[in-house]
Amino acid sequence: MTREQTAKRFPHWAQAANKSKIKKRTRSTPDKLSRSHLLAPHHKFTSARKPLHGRGYNLDQLGRRFSRTRAARDHGTSRAGRRAEVYRAHDIGLAWKVSIKQSLQTLRIAFVLSFALSVALFAQTKIPEWCRTLPRPEYETLQRVRISDPWYEVYKVAPAVYAIYEPHQFEETISYLIVGDKQALLFDTGMGISDLRKVTAALTRLPIVVLNSHTHNDHVGDNWQFETIYGMDTEFTRKNAQGSREDAQAELAPDQTCGQLPKRFDPKTYATPPWKITAYKHDGDRIDLGGRWLEVIATPGHTPDAISLFDRANSLLFSGDTYYPGPIWLYRPETNLEAYGASIRRLAALTPQIKTVLGAHNVPVAPPSVLPRLVTAFEAVRAGKIPATQSSGDNVLYRVDDISFLMRRAEAKR
Ligand SMILES: [Zn+2]
Repeated sequence: MTREQTAKRFPHWAQAANKSKIKKRTRSTPDKLSRSHLLAPHHKFTSARKPLHGRGYNLDQLGRRFSRTRAARDHGTSRAGRRAEVYRAHDIGLAWKVSIKQSLQTLRIAFVLSFALSVALFAQTKIPEWCRTLPRPEYETLQRVRISDPWYEVYKVAPAVYAIYEPHQFEETISYLIVGDKQALLFDTGMGISDLRKVTAALTRLPIVVLNSHTHNDHVGDNWQFETIYGMDTEFTRKNAQGSREDAQAELAPDQTCGQLPKRFDPKTYATPPWKITAYKHDGDRIDLGGRWLEVIATPGHTPDAISLFDRANSLLFSGDTYYPGPIWLYRPETNLEAYGASIRRLAALTPQIKTVLGAHNVPVAPPSVLPRLVTAFEAVRAGKIPATQSSGDNVLYRVDDISFLMRRAEAKR
Protein backbone atom coordinates (compact mmCIF):
# COMPACT_ATOMS: atom_id res chain seq x y z
CA MET A 1 0.00 0.00 0.00
CA THR A 2 1.47 3.32 -1.03
CA ARG A 3 1.10 6.59 0.87
CA GLU A 4 -1.29 7.95 -1.75
CA GLN A 5 -3.47 4.89 -1.57
CA THR A 6 -3.71 5.04 2.16
CA ALA A 7 -4.39 8.78 2.01
CA LYS A 8 -7.15 8.17 -0.45
CA ARG A 9 -8.52 5.46 1.71
CA PHE A 10 -8.52 7.32 4.94
CA PRO A 11 -11.23 9.96 4.42
CA HIS A 12 -13.77 7.19 4.42
CA TRP A 13 -12.69 6.06 7.81
CA ALA A 14 -12.76 9.58 9.15
CA GLN A 15 -16.28 10.01 7.92
CA ALA A 16 -17.49 6.70 9.23
CA ALA A 17 -15.78 7.06 12.58
CA ASN A 18 -17.33 10.51 13.02
CA LYS A 19 -20.77 9.13 12.50
CA SER A 20 -20.69 6.62 15.24
CA LYS A 21 -18.97 5.80 18.43
CA ILE A 22 -19.15 2.18 17.43
CA LYS A 23 -16.10 0.73 15.81
CA LYS A 24 -15.73 1.29 12.11
CA ARG A 25 -12.54 0.58 10.41
CA THR A 26 -10.59 1.44 7.39
CA ARG A 27 -8.38 -1.43 6.67
CA SER A 28 -8.51 -0.88 2.98
CA THR A 29 -6.26 0.13 0.19
CA PRO A 30 -7.83 1.77 -2.85
CA ASP A 31 -6.41 0.36 -6.01
CA LYS A 32 -8.92 -0.44 -8.67
CA LEU A 33 -12.28 0.36 -10.11
CA SER A 34 -15.41 -1.23 -8.76
CA ARG A 35 -16.22 -4.84 -9.43
CA SER A 36 -18.56 -4.87 -12.35
CA HIS A 37 -20.95 -7.32 -10.66
CA LEU A 38 -21.52 -4.86 -7.89
CA LEU A 39 -22.80 -2.38 -10.43
CA ALA A 40 -25.38 -4.75 -11.83
CA PRO A 41 -28.35 -2.32 -11.52
CA HIS A 42 -26.90 -0.29 -14.41
CA HIS A 43 -27.31 -3.15 -16.81
CA LYS A 44 -30.94 -3.92 -16.17
CA PHE A 45 -32.29 -1.39 -18.62
CA THR A 46 -30.26 -2.04 -21.70
CA SER A 47 -32.67 -4.53 -23.29
CA ALA A 48 -35.93 -2.89 -22.25
CA ARG A 49 -36.21 -0.71 -25.37
CA LYS A 50 -39.04 -1.42 -27.80
CA PRO A 51 -39.04 -0.55 -31.54
CA LEU A 52 -39.92 3.11 -32.14
CA HIS A 53 -42.91 2.31 -34.34
CA GLY A 54 -45.35 -0.52 -34.10
CA ARG A 55 -45.59 -2.81 -37.10
CA GLY A 56 -47.85 -1.32 -39.89
CA TYR A 57 -47.60 2.27 -38.62
CA ASN A 58 -44.56 3.32 -40.52
CA LEU A 59 -44.60 7.02 -41.51
CA ASP A 60 -43.45 6.34 -45.08
CA GLN A 61 -46.29 3.92 -45.69
CA LEU A 62 -48.72 6.47 -44.38
CA GLY A 63 -47.39 9.16 -46.75
CA ARG A 64 -47.88 6.87 -49.74
CA ARG A 65 -51.48 6.13 -48.73
CA PHE A 66 -52.27 9.86 -48.50
CA SER A 67 -51.04 10.63 -52.00
CA ARG A 68 -52.98 7.72 -53.52
CA THR A 69 -56.26 9.01 -52.00
CA ARG A 70 -55.63 12.55 -53.13
CA ALA A 71 -55.09 11.36 -56.72
CA ALA A 72 -58.36 9.47 -56.70
CA ARG A 73 -60.35 12.46 -55.38
CA ASP A 74 -58.99 14.73 -58.14
CA HIS A 75 -60.62 12.39 -60.62
CA GLY A 76 -64.08 13.77 -59.72
CA THR A 77 -67.21 12.04 -58.46
CA SER A 78 -66.60 8.64 -59.88
CA ARG A 79 -67.10 5.54 -57.78
CA ALA A 80 -63.40 5.39 -57.36
CA GLY A 81 -63.48 9.01 -56.17
CA ARG A 82 -66.15 8.27 -53.51
CA ARG A 83 -64.18 5.32 -52.33
CA ALA A 84 -61.20 7.65 -52.14
CA GLU A 85 -63.21 9.97 -49.79
CA VAL A 86 -63.88 7.07 -47.49
CA TYR A 87 -60.22 6.13 -47.56
CA ARG A 88 -59.23 9.68 -46.75
CA ALA A 89 -61.44 9.87 -43.67
CA HIS A 90 -60.01 6.57 -42.55
CA ASP A 91 -56.44 7.75 -43.12
CA ILE A 92 -56.89 10.94 -41.11
CA GLY A 93 -58.10 8.85 -38.17
CA LEU A 94 -55.14 6.59 -38.67
CA ALA A 95 -52.72 9.54 -38.71
CA TRP A 96 -54.09 10.76 -35.38
CA LYS A 97 -53.74 7.34 -33.87
CA VAL A 98 -50.17 7.10 -35.09
CA SER A 99 -49.15 10.49 -33.78
CA ILE A 100 -50.67 9.78 -30.34
CA LYS A 101 -48.97 6.44 -30.27
CA GLN A 102 -45.66 8.02 -31.24
CA SER A 103 -45.93 10.64 -28.54
CA LEU A 104 -46.67 7.96 -25.99
CA GLN A 105 -43.70 5.94 -27.13
CA THR A 106 -41.41 8.96 -26.98
CA LEU A 107 -42.66 9.69 -23.48
CA ARG A 108 -42.14 6.11 -22.47
CA ILE A 109 -38.57 6.09 -23.77
CA ALA A 110 -37.82 9.35 -22.01
CA PHE A 111 -39.26 7.93 -18.81
CA VAL A 112 -37.26 4.70 -19.05
CA LEU A 113 -34.05 6.61 -19.82
CA SER A 114 -34.47 9.07 -16.97
CA PHE A 115 -35.38 6.24 -14.60
CA ALA A 116 -32.30 4.29 -15.66
CA LEU A 117 -30.16 7.38 -15.22
CA SER A 118 -31.46 8.10 -11.73
CA VAL A 119 -31.03 4.47 -10.71
CA ALA A 120 -27.46 4.58 -12.02
CA LEU A 121 -26.75 7.80 -10.13
CA PHE A 122 -28.39 6.46 -6.99
CA ALA A 123 -26.34 3.25 -7.24
CA GLN A 124 -23.18 5.31 -7.69
CA THR A 125 -23.82 7.36 -4.58
CA LYS A 126 -24.86 4.26 -2.64
CA ILE A 127 -21.69 2.28 -3.31
CA PRO A 128 -19.35 3.05 -0.43
CA GLU A 129 -15.94 4.40 -1.32
CA TRP A 130 -14.07 1.40 0.14
CA CYS A 131 -16.13 -0.93 -1.98
CA ARG A 132 -15.42 0.95 -5.22
CA THR A 133 -11.71 0.31 -4.80
CA LEU A 134 -12.18 -3.47 -4.76
CA PRO A 135 -10.92 -5.93 -5.82
CA ARG A 136 -7.53 -5.40 -4.29
CA PRO A 137 -4.76 -6.06 -6.81
CA GLU A 138 -2.93 -8.46 -4.49
CA TYR A 139 -5.63 -11.06 -5.15
CA GLU A 140 -4.76 -11.28 -8.85
CA THR A 141 -1.76 -13.46 -8.13
CA LEU A 142 -3.47 -15.73 -5.60
CA GLN A 143 -4.91 -19.11 -6.46
CA ARG A 144 -8.70 -18.83 -6.27
CA VAL A 145 -10.78 -21.82 -5.23
CA ARG A 146 -14.31 -21.70 -6.63
CA ILE A 147 -17.12 -22.23 -4.14
CA SER A 148 -20.86 -21.83 -4.56
CA ASP A 149 -21.51 -19.14 -1.91
CA PRO A 150 -20.96 -15.68 -3.45
CA TRP A 151 -20.57 -14.05 -0.03
CA TYR A 152 -17.08 -15.53 0.33
CA GLU A 153 -14.00 -15.73 -1.82
CA VAL A 154 -11.61 -18.59 -1.12
CA TYR A 155 -7.91 -18.59 -1.97
CA LYS A 156 -5.36 -21.34 -1.51
CA VAL A 157 -2.51 -19.32 -0.03
CA ALA A 158 -0.11 -22.08 1.10
CA PRO A 159 -0.10 -25.90 1.01
CA ALA A 160 -3.47 -27.01 2.44
CA VAL A 161 -4.19 -23.50 3.73
CA TYR A 162 -7.32 -21.68 2.57
CA ALA A 163 -7.97 -18.01 3.13
CA ILE A 164 -11.73 -17.39 3.36
CA TYR A 165 -12.29 -13.74 2.54
CA GLU A 166 -15.47 -11.65 3.01
CA PRO A 167 -15.18 -8.77 0.53
CA HIS A 168 -18.80 -7.57 0.80
CA GLN A 169 -18.45 -6.09 4.25
CA PHE A 170 -16.20 -3.23 5.32
CA GLU A 171 -14.13 -5.37 7.68
CA GLU A 172 -12.93 -7.50 4.75
CA THR A 173 -12.37 -10.23 7.30
CA ILE A 174 -10.24 -13.25 6.45
CA SER A 175 -10.58 -16.61 8.21
CA TYR A 176 -8.15 -19.47 7.58
CA LEU A 177 -8.73 -23.17 7.21
CA ILE A 178 -5.48 -25.01 7.93
CA VAL A 179 -5.72 -28.67 6.96
CA GLY A 180 -3.64 -31.53 8.38
CA ASP A 181 -3.90 -35.29 7.80
CA LYS A 182 -6.30 -36.00 10.64
CA GLN A 183 -8.12 -32.77 11.29
CA ALA A 184 -8.32 -29.15 10.21
CA LEU A 185 -8.15 -25.99 12.27
CA LEU A 186 -10.36 -23.05 11.43
CA PHE A 187 -8.62 -19.88 12.58
CA ASP A 188 -11.65 -17.56 12.97
CA THR A 189 -15.18 -17.94 11.69
CA GLY A 190 -15.78 -14.49 10.19
CA MET A 191 -18.84 -12.29 10.30
CA GLY A 192 -21.52 -14.98 10.53
CA ILE A 193 -23.44 -13.30 7.72
CA SER A 194 -23.49 -16.31 5.42
CA ASP A 195 -22.76 -19.99 6.14
CA LEU A 196 -19.08 -20.66 6.81
CA ARG A 197 -19.70 -24.23 7.86
CA LYS A 198 -20.92 -25.07 4.36
CA VAL A 199 -17.80 -23.53 2.86
CA THR A 200 -15.42 -25.44 5.12
CA ALA A 201 -17.33 -28.68 4.50
CA ALA A 202 -16.72 -28.18 0.78
CA LEU A 203 -12.98 -27.69 1.41
CA THR A 204 -12.32 -30.65 3.72
CA ARG A 205 -14.06 -33.75 5.01
CA LEU A 206 -11.85 -33.89 8.09
CA PRO A 207 -13.17 -32.88 11.49
CA ILE A 208 -12.72 -29.18 12.17
CA VAL A 209 -11.66 -27.46 15.38
CA VAL A 210 -12.14 -23.72 15.76
CA LEU A 211 -9.69 -21.39 17.42
CA ASN A 212 -10.09 -17.61 17.21
CA SER A 213 -7.34 -15.08 16.64
CA HIS A 214 -9.34 -13.10 19.23
CA THR A 215 -13.00 -12.83 20.03
CA HIS A 216 -14.13 -9.57 18.41
CA ASN A 217 -17.45 -10.08 16.67
CA ASP A 218 -16.04 -10.04 13.14
CA HIS A 219 -13.94 -13.16 13.87
CA VAL A 220 -16.40 -15.34 15.78
CA GLY A 221 -19.67 -14.94 13.84
CA ASP A 222 -20.00 -18.61 12.92
CA ASN A 223 -18.40 -20.18 16.02
CA TRP A 224 -21.82 -21.44 17.09
CA GLN A 225 -21.97 -23.69 14.02
CA PHE A 226 -19.02 -25.84 15.12
CA GLU A 227 -18.80 -28.52 17.81
CA THR A 228 -15.18 -28.11 18.90
CA ILE A 229 -14.11 -24.61 19.84
CA TYR A 230 -10.87 -23.85 21.63
CA GLY A 231 -10.66 -20.62 23.56
CA MET A 232 -7.96 -18.67 25.32
CA ASP A 233 -8.28 -18.78 29.07
CA THR A 234 -9.27 -15.15 29.61
CA GLU A 235 -12.26 -13.32 31.04
CA PHE A 236 -12.53 -11.39 27.79
CA THR A 237 -12.99 -14.66 25.87
CA ARG A 238 -15.57 -16.02 28.29
CA LYS A 239 -17.56 -12.80 28.17
CA ASN A 240 -17.61 -12.70 24.37
CA ALA A 241 -18.59 -16.38 24.18
CA GLN A 242 -21.95 -15.30 25.60
CA GLY A 243 -22.70 -13.62 22.30
CA SER A 244 -23.76 -10.04 21.61
CA ARG A 245 -25.82 -7.95 19.29
CA GLU A 246 -24.58 -4.37 19.31
CA ASP A 247 -21.26 -4.80 17.49
CA ALA A 248 -22.85 -7.13 14.95
CA GLN A 249 -25.63 -4.64 14.17
CA ALA A 250 -23.08 -1.85 13.69
CA GLU A 251 -21.51 -3.90 10.87
CA LEU A 252 -24.67 -3.42 8.81
CA ALA A 253 -24.69 0.39 8.72
CA PRO A 254 -25.43 1.57 5.16
CA ASP A 255 -21.79 2.29 4.31
CA GLN A 256 -20.56 -1.01 5.74
CA THR A 257 -21.84 -3.50 3.22
CA CYS A 258 -21.19 -3.78 -0.46
CA GLY A 259 -23.27 -5.74 -2.96
CA GLN A 260 -25.84 -8.36 -2.10
CA LEU A 261 -26.34 -9.75 1.36
CA PRO A 262 -27.10 -13.50 1.33
CA LYS A 263 -30.76 -14.30 0.55
CA ARG A 264 -31.46 -16.04 3.83
CA PHE A 265 -29.76 -13.37 5.91
CA ASP A 266 -32.04 -11.30 8.13
CA PRO A 267 -30.44 -7.95 9.07
CA LYS A 268 -33.00 -7.36 11.83
CA THR A 269 -32.03 -10.42 13.83
CA TYR A 270 -28.30 -10.27 13.05
CA ALA A 271 -26.23 -10.86 16.18
CA THR A 272 -23.23 -12.90 17.31
CA PRO A 273 -24.70 -16.12 18.72
CA PRO A 274 -23.13 -17.53 21.88
CA TRP A 275 -20.81 -20.52 21.66
CA LYS A 276 -19.44 -23.13 23.98
CA ILE A 277 -15.72 -23.28 24.70
CA THR A 278 -14.71 -26.94 24.47
CA ALA A 279 -11.15 -26.57 25.78
CA TYR A 280 -8.86 -23.76 26.87
CA LYS A 281 -5.55 -23.05 25.17
CA HIS A 282 -2.53 -21.23 26.54
CA ASP A 283 0.61 -19.60 25.25
CA GLY A 284 3.00 -22.26 23.94
CA ASP A 285 0.35 -24.97 23.41
CA ARG A 286 0.84 -27.10 20.30
CA ILE A 287 -2.08 -28.41 18.31
CA ASP A 288 -1.63 -31.61 16.29
CA LEU A 289 -3.55 -31.68 13.00
CA GLY A 290 -1.89 -34.90 11.87
CA GLY A 291 1.39 -34.33 10.08
CA ARG A 292 1.09 -30.65 10.88
CA TRP A 293 1.61 -28.81 14.15
CA LEU A 294 0.39 -25.37 15.06
CA GLU A 295 1.87 -23.42 17.98
CA VAL A 296 -0.19 -20.96 19.94
CA ILE A 297 1.62 -17.68 20.60
CA ALA A 298 -0.25 -15.39 22.95
CA THR A 299 0.00 -11.89 21.45
CA PRO A 300 -2.21 -9.75 23.71
CA GLY A 301 -2.55 -6.08 22.90
CA HIS A 302 -5.33 -5.61 20.34
CA THR A 303 -7.40 -7.64 22.82
CA PRO A 304 -6.40 -9.59 25.95
CA ASP A 305 -7.05 -12.88 24.12
CA ALA A 306 -5.25 -12.07 20.86
CA ILE A 307 -3.05 -14.90 19.58
CA SER A 308 -0.92 -15.77 16.60
CA LEU A 309 -0.50 -19.28 15.21
CA PHE A 310 2.87 -20.50 14.07
CA ASP A 311 3.16 -23.30 11.54
CA ARG A 312 6.88 -23.75 12.04
CA ALA A 313 7.43 -26.54 9.51
CA ASN A 314 5.79 -24.49 6.75
CA SER A 315 7.17 -21.12 7.94
CA LEU A 316 3.72 -19.56 8.19
CA LEU A 317 2.66 -17.06 10.82
CA PHE A 318 -1.06 -16.37 11.20
CA SER A 319 -1.08 -12.99 12.88
CA GLY A 320 -4.80 -12.23 13.42
CA ASP A 321 -5.39 -8.54 14.13
CA THR A 322 -1.90 -8.10 15.58
CA TYR A 323 -0.77 -7.48 12.02
CA TYR A 324 -2.68 -7.12 8.75
CA PRO A 325 -2.07 -4.78 5.81
CA GLY A 326 -4.06 -1.64 6.67
CA PRO A 327 -4.48 0.64 9.70
CA ILE A 328 -4.25 -1.55 12.79
CA TRP A 329 -6.91 -0.85 15.35
CA LEU A 330 -5.46 -0.11 18.74
CA TYR A 331 -8.11 2.20 20.18
CA ARG A 332 -10.71 -0.05 21.73
CA PRO A 333 -11.10 -0.05 25.53
CA GLU A 334 -9.79 -3.64 25.66
CA THR A 335 -6.59 -2.69 23.81
CA ASN A 336 -3.35 -2.52 25.80
CA LEU A 337 -0.50 -0.74 24.02
CA GLU A 338 2.24 -1.97 26.38
CA ALA A 339 1.16 -5.54 25.81
CA TYR A 340 0.90 -4.94 22.05
CA GLY A 341 4.48 -3.63 21.91
CA ALA A 342 5.77 -6.73 23.71
CA SER A 343 3.75 -9.04 21.43
CA ILE A 344 5.02 -7.59 18.16
CA ARG A 345 8.62 -7.69 19.42
CA ARG A 346 8.08 -11.37 20.10
CA LEU A 347 6.75 -11.97 16.59
CA ALA A 348 9.54 -9.93 15.00
CA ALA A 349 12.07 -12.24 16.67
CA LEU A 350 10.63 -15.07 14.55
CA THR A 351 11.20 -13.22 11.26
CA PRO A 352 14.06 -15.47 10.01
CA GLN A 353 11.83 -18.54 10.43
CA ILE A 354 8.86 -17.08 8.54
CA LYS A 355 8.07 -17.05 4.83
CA THR A 356 4.58 -15.60 4.94
CA VAL A 357 2.60 -13.54 7.43
CA LEU A 358 -1.14 -14.14 7.14
CA GLY A 359 -3.30 -11.41 8.72
CA ALA A 360 -7.02 -11.35 9.44
CA HIS A 361 -8.18 -8.46 7.24
CA ASN A 362 -7.90 -7.09 3.70
CA VAL A 363 -5.14 -9.18 2.12
CA PRO A 364 -4.04 -12.63 3.26
CA VAL A 365 -0.33 -12.56 2.49
CA ALA A 366 2.52 -10.31 3.56
CA PRO A 367 6.28 -10.80 3.60
CA PRO A 368 7.99 -11.43 6.97
CA SER A 369 9.88 -8.12 6.65
CA VAL A 370 6.70 -6.38 7.82
CA LEU A 371 7.31 -7.67 11.36
CA PRO A 372 10.51 -5.75 12.24
CA ARG A 373 9.09 -2.71 10.42
CA LEU A 374 5.95 -3.00 12.53
CA VAL A 375 8.08 -2.81 15.67
CA THR A 376 10.10 0.16 14.41
CA ALA A 377 6.96 2.03 13.39
CA PHE A 378 5.17 1.33 16.67
CA GLU A 379 8.14 2.38 18.78
CA ALA A 380 8.55 5.59 16.80
CA VAL A 381 4.90 6.44 17.47
CA ARG A 382 5.23 5.61 21.15
CA ALA A 383 8.34 7.80 21.38
CA GLY A 384 6.32 10.72 20.03
CA LYS A 385 8.40 10.96 16.85
CA ILE A 386 5.50 10.56 14.44
CA PRO A 387 2.96 13.36 13.99
CA ALA A 388 -0.64 12.23 13.70
CA THR A 389 -1.74 11.94 10.07
CA GLN A 390 -5.42 12.41 10.71
CA SER A 391 -7.74 12.46 13.64
CA SER A 392 -11.36 11.85 14.36
CA GLY A 393 -12.86 12.41 17.79
CA ASP A 394 -10.66 10.73 20.34
CA ASN A 395 -8.79 8.63 17.79
CA VAL A 396 -5.67 9.42 15.83
CA LEU A 397 -4.01 7.73 12.87
CA TYR A 398 -0.25 7.40 12.85
CA ARG A 399 1.49 6.32 9.69
CA VAL A 400 5.02 5.20 9.04
CA ASP A 401 5.37 4.28 5.35
CA ASP A 402 2.84 1.51 4.71
CA ILE A 403 2.27 0.70 8.38
CA SER A 404 -0.37 2.59 10.32
CA PHE A 405 -2.08 2.49 13.68
CA LEU A 406 -5.36 3.89 14.86
CA MET A 407 -5.00 4.85 18.52
CA ARG A 408 -6.63 6.84 21.26
CA ARG A 409 -5.14 10.31 21.19
CA ALA A 410 -4.40 10.47 24.89
CA GLU A 411 -2.62 7.14 24.87
CA ALA A 412 -0.42 7.00 21.82
CA LYS A 413 2.69 8.57 23.33
CA ARG A 414 4.34 6.82 26.21
ZN1 LIG B 1 -10.32 -7.31 16.24
